[in-house]
Amino acid sequence: MSDLLTGARGEVYGPRAVRLTDDLTVLRVLPQRERRTVGAWCFLDRYRADEQGPSGALDVWPHPHIGLQTVTWLFSGEVRHRDSLGNDQHIRPGELNLMTAGAGISHAETSMPRGVLHGLQFWIALPDRERLRAASFEHHASLPVVDLGGALARILIGELRGKASPASAFSPLVGMEISATRSGVVRVPLEPSFEYALLSTGSALAVNGARVDDVKLLYLGSRRERVEIEMESGALAFLFGGEPLHEPVLLWWNFVARTHEEMIAARNAWEHSGRFGIVAGFGDRRVPAPPLTMRLRP
Ligand code: MN
Repeated sequence: MSDLLTGARGEVYGPRAVRLTDDLTVLRVLPQRERRTVGAWCFLDRYRADEQGPSGALDVWPHPHIGLQTVTWLFSGEVRHRDSLGNDQHIRPGELNLMTAGAGISHAETSMPRGVLHGLQFWIALPDRERLRAASFEHHASLPVVDLGGALARILIGELRGKASPASAFSPLVGMEISATRSGVVRVPLEPSFEYALLSTGSALAVNGARVDDVKLLYLGSRRERVEIEMESGALAFLFGGEPLHEPVLLWWNFVARTHEEMIAARNAWEHSGRFGIVAGFGDRRVPAPPLTMRLRP
């Protein structure tokens, strides 16, 4: 269902609905069939509880990850993260939870009954030289803000105009929330060697004259020095990008790897060994791995 708008303006992609749990259906924005990665960014879900009927809670039991970083970002609501390293961290709007899975970690995420849950979860593929590193978790309650004139950019990871996020990055990339403080055109400087994409979230935007509706992704490509975003006061957008990833990356279930055999090994380890540790507080509750029946190829 992705619609493609080609040309100098960029390509616009629509999301697809994915049932994450019995209570929560998310909109998957990345990967797209025609667009697997943007820099090292390889996955993006948008969840919004008020579109789900009476429940709409996030209640994801312990599950494993390898080879990636998860980036959790909220526009409203509150989520509790618990992982196999013993971290137990609540996250609120404006804060960043960044989990580096590396060689392996397991975690669980539960929304708290505080405001309407609305947020994003990204995955960043770790480059080959870093993907087997030890797992770690970071919470950043304070992030740098750049005044763009008519909008504020909150820098989750990477840097803009010399203001750098404290979040750990393992390849050249950037991610920022842009919130308009007045209606008008916002100009964001870009790094020409990066490729970028922009997610509209909450309302429509116009980028370089092209309309981008809510939960649509505009792929901007690279070799641009800036992007001009027409925003209404209060509108939100998320801009992310990085150096194009020149490595074949496999995504399957919660894993980012390079070969089919690695996926089988990670799946078997979750099902039959203690490699991914224990997330306290869940007893026997865990997300079972689905069967891996097809041969995975990059
Ligand atoms: Mn997860």
